Amino acid sequence: MSLRLSEIFFSIQGEGPLVGFPTFFVRLYGCNLNCSWCDTPYAREGDRYKVVTPEEILKIWKKSYVEIPYVTITGGEPLLQRESLKLIHLFLERKVKVLLETNGSLEIKEVPKEVLIVMDVKTPSSGMSHYNYFENFKYLKEEDALKFVIKDKGDFDWSLEIISKFDLLKRCTCFFSPASPYFSPKELAQLILEIRKPLRLQIQLHKILNLK
Ligand code: SF4
Repeated sequence: MSLRLSEIFFSIQGEGPLVGFPTFFVRLYGCNLNCSWCDTPYAREGDRYKVVTPEEILKIWKKSYVEIPYVTITGGEPLLQRESLKLIHLFLERKVKVLLETNGSLEIKEVPKEVLIVMDVKTPSSGMSHYNYFENFKYLKEEDALKFVIKDKGDFDWSLEIISKFDLLKRCTCFFSPASPYFSPKELAQLILEIRKPLRLQIQLHKILNLK
């Protein structure tokens, strides 16, 4: 049983609840969506992937990064491949903190509770908002996070409606991230301040640092 792997890299986690920590990243290949502002098209187009087993990925971590207790599994969409759950279990068995980035279109029910989930809520500007699987909200834990990428005021207003409709601020942290280069972080900050709700502004730290 194997996985289609786009890349493995070591960097600073640039977003989400573990922002700032040095992290071992596993980017799995393939995605079921096609967001207008996708910043990782290479992880879903062009068949640029390697076929590896979960054990081989674990071996790379053990060889060079075993002292790093943070692993992010991202994509593409990791949950498209069932073996991603096996990979998650292998890391959890080694007491590693696993963060899973998922696009919110696939069910997260089977993801172990020990995993920190960062789930997208696809805004209208992505062109993919009809794929949001809102049933997933009920599986989220307090320490998990939702990520809304905001390209314009329409996205902002839509996101507030979704948050209110599903009472999401009581469920977990809601990160609002400006879609670069379309929407300025300052403009988004001002909108958040205006509406006086505990949303969390997110600016991608790895991009500011010019890291992967
Ligand atoms: S879900 Fe993520 S990887 Fe897939 S198209 Fe959208 S931004 Fe790209």
